Amino acid sequence: MADAKLSGTRVSATSNTLTTPRLVSTVVSGAEIAIQCPSWCVIDHAESSNLYLEDVRHESDYADLNAKVIGKADNLQLFARLGQSLVSTQAHRMAPYLVLDGGDDAEELTLDGADEFADNLVAFAAQIRELTRAARGGTR
Ligand SMILES: [Zn+2]
Repeated sequence: MADAKLSGTRVSATSNTLTTPRLVSTVVSGAEIAIQCPSWCVIDHAESSNLYLEDVRHESDYADLNAKVIGKADNLQLFARLGQSLVSTQAHRMAPYLVLDGGDDAEELTLDGADEFADNLVAFAAQIRELTRAARGGTR
């Protein structure tokens, strides 16, 4: 896991960030344009100066998955955020998608894929609880 990505300060996403889009301005190739920005986006587009339309993107706050790892100071294992590009040669990036980043590699999931991943995390958590319960002498 790349430690450089682990040192940034991030704010966890909250459910009240998911409301209606707003019209904001940004600069592309020196010209100010108006874009629709989803309510979950935390980019300050007014402060952004983009060379191309392809550079204009929306990003959410991060959701973090932490673990206290034996012998390591950092405990961030995985983080996720929403992303969406205004224009992209990759069609899936023009709709909101989830970026899942483990530090070395980032993967992109559709929203349906993200929901499925969330379900898998819930099942994974239950399996971890079973393992720790068994290790403490409980039954599986
Ligand atoms: Zn935005």
